[in-house]
Order: sequence, then structure tokens, then C-alpha cells
Amino acid sequence: MDQTKEVYRSEDLLCQIIDQQHVHPQLLIGNSMVLVPNDRKFQTVANIQSYVNKVTDQQGVKAVTVVPKLHRGKGRQLWAHYDPSAGEIHIPMRAKGKWAQREVVVLHELAHHLTWREPVGHGPKFAGKLLELIEEYIGLEAHFILRILYADNGVVVA
Ligand SMILES: [Zn+2]
Repeated sequence: MDQTKEVYRSEDLLCQIIDQQHVHPQLLIGNSMVLVPNDRKFQTVANIQSYVNKVTDQQGVKAVTVVPKLHRGKGRQLWAHYDPSAGEIHIPMRAKGKWAQREVVVLHELAHHLTWREPVGHGPKFAGKLLELIEEYIGLEAHFILRILYADNGVVVA
């Protein structure tokens, strides 16, 4: 099952909600009023690497190397991605790629690292793992909001 588009759509909405936190600190979603959370923003590759080291350590998996990706081209080339054979996560830096220097995006790539044997990259196990990581590292509110967005967008979670 390919639910890549739905996963990205949900995550984009979560990021938009977080980015509007200063204007809308509370959000009515899933019949609950929640305080809009915030995610960490990273200034340098070294900052991302030390965050990634902490997470892989706590999750008991192999370390991964953070590789900065220069902005080139349009659309999907801007996306962060995980390279399982090299054990690397590629994160767009600066210019228009600046948005990717944030915790939600880094956790997305780490969820790939934790589930990469799954045949489809953004399948139910991936979605379940990302929800777990979001709850553990960003918090219950972010987890709750993403879970509702997944349901609204038809993302299946295992
Ligand atoms: Zn992905």
C-alpha cells in the first residue's frame, strides 16, 4: 500500500499548525482543544547530528550520519531522505530548504531508519513508528494532532 502522499500531506499540515502557534496557540481538533506544541529547529548540521545520535542511542539502533543537502531544483529534490545502504539521512539546508532543519522532518527520516525493512517506505509500520517518535520527542499534543490528521487523510497506522 502506498500512502506516501497522504503521509506527506498530514505532516505538512502538522508543520503548518506548529508554524502558526504564535497566532493560534490553541487548536480545536478531534473534538478536543489542545495546546499547539512546538518542535525543535536546528541551526547547524552538528546540532542535527547530536540530536540524531541521542535518538538512535535511546532507540537502541545503529548510528546514522547526517548529510547536508544543497538546494537544487524543485519539488521532491528538496525533500529530506534516508539512504539505508549508506546509513545516512540527507537534510536540505539553507536557502529554500531551510524548513527541513526541524525536528518533525528529522524524526520522519529516523522513522525510516527504524522501519526500513518494511517493503513500502511510508506504510502502516512507518506511520506507527513516526507517531511513537513524535510522542516521545515532541510530546502528547503533537502525537494527538498527527494521529487525527492521519485519520482525516486516510493514513493506515500499524
Ligand atoms: Zn519518507
